[in-house]
This record gives sequence, C-alpha cells and structure tokens, in this order.
Amino acid sequence: MHNLSSIESVNESVCISTVNDSVERVSQYFLDMTGYFLDDFINKNILEVFGMLRIGPNIDLGEINMEAEYFLFTKSLEVRFIHIEVQEKDNNKIYFLREILNSRIEDKHIYLSQLCRSNIIGIAVYSVPSMALIKTNQKYLEFLKSPANQKENCLGKTVGDIISGWAGSNVEQLTQKAISTGETIQVQECGYKGDNREITYWDLIISPIIEDGKVKYLVATDKEVTENVVNKIKSEKQAKIIDLKNKQLEVIIENLQNNVVTVDKCGNYLYKSSGYKKLFNTAAKDIAEECEQMDIFDFEGNAIAREDMCAFRVLKGETTLNQKLKVVMNGVEKYYQASGIPIFDENNEIEVGIGVIFDITEVVKASKQLKEQNELLETILNNMSDAIIVSDNQGRIIKTNHEFKKIFVDEKKVKSMQYVSETLKFLDMEGNVIEPKSMPISRALRGENVRNARVVVKNNTKEIITDINAAPVYDNNGNTIMAVSGCHDVTLEVQMNETIMRNKKELGAIMNNMSDVLFIINSDGSYRYCNKCAYDKCFVPGQIKKHSDRLKYMKCYDMSGKELDNNELPSSRVLMGESVNNFVVKVSKLNKDIYLSFNGSPAYDKSGNLIAATLCARDITEHIQAKHALEKKQLKLLKAEYEKNEALEKAIKMKDEFLSLISHEFKTPLNVINSAIQALNYIYGDALPDKVKKYIKMIQQNSFRQLRLVNNLLDVTRSYAGQLKVHKNNIDVVFFTKSIIESVNTYASQKGIKLSFICSLEKNIVAIDDEKYERILLNLISNAIKFTPKGGTIIIKLQVLKNSIRIDVKDNGIGIPKEKADLIFERFGQVDSSLSRQAEGTGIGLSLVRRLVEVLGGSISLKSKVGNGSTFTVHIPNNKILEKEIDHQTINLMNNNIVEAVNIEFADIYL
Ligand code: ADP
Repeated sequence: MHNLSSIESVNESVCISTVNDSVERVSQYFLDMTGYFLDDFINKNILEVFGMLRIGPNIDLGEINMEAEYFLFTKSLEVRFIHIEVQEKDNNKIYFLREILNSRIEDKHIYLSQLCRSNIIGIAVYSVPSMALIKTNQKYLEFLKSPANQKENCLGKTVGDIISGWAGSNVEQLTQKAISTGETIQVQECGYKGDNREITYWDLIISPIIEDGKVKYLVATDKEVTENVVNKIKSEKQAKIIDLKNKQLEVIIENLQNNVVTVDKCGNYLYKSSGYKKLFNTAAKDIAEECEQMDIFDFEGNAIAREDMCAFRVLKGETTLNQKLKVVMNGVEKYYQASGIPIFDENNEIEVGIGVIFDITEVVKASKQLKEQNELLETILNNMSDAIIVSDNQGRIIKTNHEFKKIFVDEKKVKSMQYVSETLKFLDMEGNVIEPKSMPISRALRGENVRNARVVVKNNTKEIITDINAAPVYDNNGNTIMAVSGCHDVTLEVQMNETIMRNKKELGAIMNNMSDVLFIINSDGSYRYCNKCAYDKCFVPGQIKKHSDRLKYMKCYDMSGKELDNNELPSSRVLMGESVNNFVVKVSKLNKDIYLSFNGSPAYDKSGNLIAATLCARDITEHIQAKHALEKKQLKLLKAEYEKNEALEKAIKMKDEFLSLISHEFKTPLNVINSAIQALNYIYGDALPDKVKKYIKMIQQNSFRQLRLVNNLLDVTRSYAGQLKVHKNNIDVVFFTKSIIESVNTYASQKGIKLSFICSLEKNIVAIDDEKYERILLNLISNAIKFTPKGGTIIIKLQVLKNSIRIDVKDNGIGIPKEKADLIFERFGQVDSSLSRQAEGTGIGLSLVRRLVEVLGGSISLKSKVGNGSTFTVHIPNNKILEKEIDHQTINLMNNNIVEAVNIEFADIYL
C-alpha cells in the first residue's frame, strides 16, 4: 500500500515519488517547472524519466549528491540548474528536484538569450567543467554534423560527443586555455567539413563566464565566413592570374613594340618602333614608297602581288596573321613574319592600321639547314654499309636505313624490336638464342654502351653474322629518350677468318711435315715462325731466341770452307734486304756437320719497310757427300785418261816419225826412177819404139803419183810435227796464179773441161810462200778437174781484199755432201761414194791444203751442193814483206819447178 500522506505532504514541493522505481506521482510544481504533462511520467521507470529530462552531468541514481549542481532540460529544452534530494521509505522514493535560486542563464545573461534568438551568429553555452552543452541556437547547430545538428540530440551531451575529433584538437587546447586563464579566445576562418556541405569557414569566439570567481560556463560563438573566405581565396587566385597575365602582356607588348608600325587609312606611317626602323632603314613616308625599295616573295620564291601583301590588306580592312615573306633589299635576302590589324572608328572607318613584323631569317635559315642536314643524314644513313636502327625508349623502332632492310625483314612491317625478335632468330656464336632483353638495343635503353656485340641473325632463308654497337641517347635531364644501334655485316669477314685459320692450320701442318727447314724472321731478328725441321737441323734446343745468337752455339762455313761471321749468315743477309739463292752453308753443331742450301727473301710492307724475312733451307748433306765421292772418282779417272793420252800421243809421234822416215825412204828410189826415166827419154827418146815409150810414160806417171803421195805424206807429217817452214817473197800474185792455171790448162782441155781465170787486177804484189801457194792451188784445181765430168767448167777467181787475198776455185762437178764437208779436210778423208771413187786418191790432199793455208796464216772454206758443184774459198793475208826479209834463194826457182810440180800434182789424172 502507498503511503499517500507522505506524498501529499510533499505535494507542495518539486518532486517525483516512485514505488519500486516506477513513477507514481509527480508534483504540480515539477510539471510547471519542466513543462511536461503528468501522463508523460506516470508509471515510467525513474531512469527513463531522468533520461527524458536529460539530467546531468554524469548522474548515478544510487549516489546522488545533495550538494552537487545538476541540470535538467524542460520540454522546450530550456536548461534548469537543480539540487536533487532523495527520501526513501520501504519501496517508496521521493526525488526532490529543486531549482537553484537565480540560476537561470536567460535571467543572468540576458544578452546571451537575445543573441541566441537573433540567430545571426551561432551560440553554444557549455557548462564547466563537464563541457556539457546546455544552450545553443540553430545557427550553431548548422556547424555540427548529423545527428548532433538537432537540438534534442546534442543538448546535455558533452562537446566531445557532439563534435567528432574534438579531443586533442587545436580548438580543445584553446578552450582549455580559456578555462584556465579566464580569457576570451578568438579563432578566425577556422575550416570545418560539415556533413552535407563543402568545407565551411567559421570565426570562433570562446568566452568564459565567471561566477563566484570560477569559470562556470563557456560561451562559444561561431560566425560562418565561408562565403567571405571562398571569395577571398577566389579573388586572391584571380589577382594572381591577372598579375601573371599583366606581366605576360607587359612582356609581349614590350617585344611587340620593338617591331611595330602604325599607319593611317592611306598607308602613311604614323609610328615606327625602333625595332621596325632597324629592320627597314628607309626614309619612306608610306607603305607604297617603302615597298618600292624591295622585292617581296612568298617562301616558295613567287612574287607576292601588292594587294595580297599584309600591309595593303590592312588598308582594305582585313586582318592578316603571320604572313610569311621573303624580302630582298639591297641584295640582302631576309625572311619575315608579318601580321596586320585594322582598327575602326565609331563610323566603321579605318582609323589606324597596326603592323607587327618579326625577322625570322635565322629561324628559316636554321630550319633550312636542319632540313638539309636531315637530308644529308638520311643520305648518309642510307648509303652506310651498316644497318642502323633508332628506337624510342619504349623499344619502338623510329628510324632505320636501307641496309637494315637487307639484314632484317621488311622495314615497313617492323615497328618494334619485339616484332624483329619474333620474326628473326638472334643467336650468339655458340648458337644459343639471345633473349630480347639481352639484345644490344635493349641493353642500350637501360643505359649501357654496347660495343661489337657479335650476333648471328637468322631467318628462314639466310643466316648472317653481325657486329652490333648500341648506345643510349639522353635528354637534357639525363633521361634515356632513345637508343641508336649499328649492325655491321661481318659474315664474309668471319668466314674468311675461319678459312684463314683453317689454311693456317693446314699450312702449319704442311710446314711442320716438310723435310725442308723454314724460318720466318721478324725485322728485329727474333723468330716469328720456325718449323719442326728448323728446330731439328738449326737449333740447339731451348738456347737460340734470335738468329744472331746462332754462332754462339754452332759454327757455319761456306763451300770454300771459310768460316762465316754473323753478317754473312743467310738470315742476316735477308734481313739486310738481300735475296739469297742456293747459298750452301756447312753447319757444325755438336760435332756433326750438315750442309744446308739456303734460299730466302725479305718481305716489305706497302711503304717499303722491311717487316720480315723468309728463309728456306734444304739439307743437302747426302748430296754433297755423294758429290765429293764422285769428284774423287773423276779425279782418278782423269788421271788415268791423262796417262792414256800421253801414251797415245807418244805412239802418234812415233808413228809420224815412222811415216816421215818411210816417206823419205820411198822418195829416194822414186827420184832415182824418175831420173832414170828422164835419162831414158833424153838419151833414147826418138829411138824407143812407141810401145816402150808408152810403158815408160806409164812408169813415169806412176812414179809421179808415188812421188806426189810421198810428198804429201811427208808434208802433212811435217806440218803436224811443226816442221813446215814458210819462205815468203813479194810476188805478183796475179801473174803467178795465171801462170799456174795456164800450166794445167792442158790437163783440163784434154778432159774437155773449160778452165777460166777471173781477176779484175793486172798486178798485185803480195808476200807469199810461192811453193805453198802453188801446192794449194794445184791441189784444188786437180781435185776440181778430177771430180768434174767432161764439158764442165772450172772458174778460178782472184780477189784482192783489204786484209786478204781471196781465191775461189769453183767447179760444176759432182759436189760434196754436207755431212762430209768437214771430213774431207781431215787426213785420209774421202767422200767415198761411187761417184768420187771414179777418181782415185788417198784423201791427204785437202788435209795438206788446209795445213798449208793455216801455215800461211789464212783459212779455207767450202760451199757445195751434191750434183751442182763445189767452191773452195781460200783467204791468205794481204801484206808485203820488207826487202831485207826476201828469201833470194828461192825466188828464181819458181818457173822451173812448176812443170814438174804440175806433173806430179796431176799424176792422178789419167789422160
Ligand atoms: P785425194 O788425194 O784422194 O784427192 P783429197 O784430200 O784431195 O784426196 O780429196 C778428198 C776427197 O774429197 C776426194 O776423194 C773427193 O771425194 C773429195 N773432193 C775433193 N775435191 C772435190 C771436188 N772438187 N769435187 C768433188 N769432190 C771432191
């Protein structure tokens, strides 16, 4: 049961009574204070009621402090400051909530309430130290984020709950400062990011309100200044832009002013800037006059018509921008870019024309030069024997040359290195595939300078070997912007090198297996190459490094046995530029002799400097030894031959002596026979019967023949024994010859042969041995008669030449075969043919003739043809002897002897 009396007793108070914490009664005073109705509270839990009333700060129902100051909010959300007292009996509790006297803010601080209501600035009142919001207005709520921007969600709550990020913020610190110092703090243009709005800007003022010497409240006022701030930022930005533009304009105007000209509507100059005056230094008053002084073309070189020129178009009211002009003035060519703008007055008449002109000669020239250089570069690139690839830093190919096409695939299709590497195979020299990232151009793009990277490029049909260089190209900031790569086709070179290496190997093998010695010596005397044979024959192992060291370890001799010094060695001679041919050196080393036949020559470079020398040598030791043995043998043989000859000559001499002796012995009885016959003829000449005469004649003729044979034999033998004596006298050879011919004429005519003598001279005195001359002539004529058939002709021709007398005995008889021409002058030499055998003889005659001619200091020769006849030609020296030398004994005998001599000489000829 309720104890109503106690409740009633408190009816006059501001209280709430509960039974088991459920509100049972509420006093009218309380309802008046809070503005709620009874039904709002009855039967509600007391905790719920405290919540509705936002009682704070930090209230705990179990420990309510009667001294403490609490607040609650009325239904219209006005704050009231209260003390709370609790009386308890059984299950009944009465809460006394008495408003503190003079505690209402609106009463104490009227201006605050007014400011709040005005809603011009945001106001919030926080209790101190709890920092719970106890009063605010709409403007302030706009500053807060949802849900705190509704009064019912924020009143009674602490600032930390209402404003997120409060704890530790700059404003919290300022607030603490305001509490501790009691001074007002101002924060201007504080930026705040609300919920549904862009950033907003606020001016904050935090003022502490002090009561009883303590800070009781904090009043925070905020005034939104977002628009001001945004405008301010905007105008600052604009001011900056305007400033920049002004600056730009200033610069432009400043520059423009230099080359600016203004004209009136007739083209008269109003103003020429100093720059313009510099460009066109003329005294012209108007445009037309100025143009007279120059030729104006477009950039292609076509003359520009006056009406098309920028300056004149302005006068027509046209605006022209950047007209390009080539101007030739006083022989100087210049390039300009001109613009013209007309300015109209209010009547739309041209008031002024503004012209701006720029001298772009340097630019045009530079671009021309650039173009030319580009073309040149293009030409160079395309005529290079190397393939060139330029790639950008992404690996895209941006330039190639003609050679590139040859090495790589169709240039048009090649857009990137990736394409190239997909189409072609790139291998190293061992045949391993080179990955795209390891290709020289990729390496260059990574900053590497690649030199002579050898890459085998392979497609379906061919394979080439290239040496690739690649380098990166940097911009001014050091960034790689492209890579340039050059590929040189070295296929041929590599193949040639391989062939050379192979040949070198083969040559090395050949040279090492050669049985000849081979050296190649450098110009400084060191050995460049020595074959195996050279080491075997010419080296003492490990000791000779230079050819000049050779003589320290061996001795060398030439074929005469003379020891050779260093300069005489074949190796030194070839190094001195000499060629050595078959120079035989005897090399003595380690008690062994070998003979080497050296051949060698020096080798020069293009400038004629000696670079090396080659030397070959053949071991001819065996050959030399064989030669020595042969020489010994030959010497022996020679000695035997000599001895044999000596014996032979002795025998011949003995034979000749014998012949000479026997001839003498023959001659004596013959002379006796002859004398006897002559006596017979003389004494009994007419008395002898014809038959006897015939026999006597036979005896005489045969004895003459015998005598002739014996004489010839005797003389020949004498001549060979050197016993023939010459008795020269000055004789008229013409007369003497004629006499001899006349004396044999009988023989000739009897054989029916015509004998003629030809001589252009009447007389010619020459020193001759008449007897020998006669023997020569008779012999030749008798032979001619003998070997010339009946009816033939014999011509004897005598010529006196400058140094000799020439006698030709010419017949047209049987002739002499060529092969016998020499034989007949030998002793006992006969032609031995059936024809020549017709005339008998011994073959001594011509041999004697030749000996006689030679004894006289002359010569004999024969010209003959078988069947056509023969001509014997004798030359005898043409000279005279002094009177004192004449052999007077013989001189007169001449005529007496001739008949007998003829008889003897012609005894062979049977009449
Ligand atoms: P012979 O005492 O036998 O005449 P020669 O020495 O006078 O010897 O001659 C040698 C040989 O030369 C003769 O046997 C003959 O065969 C040949 N002969 C010499 N003169 C003539 C000539 N005029 N015509 C042809 N044969 C000749």
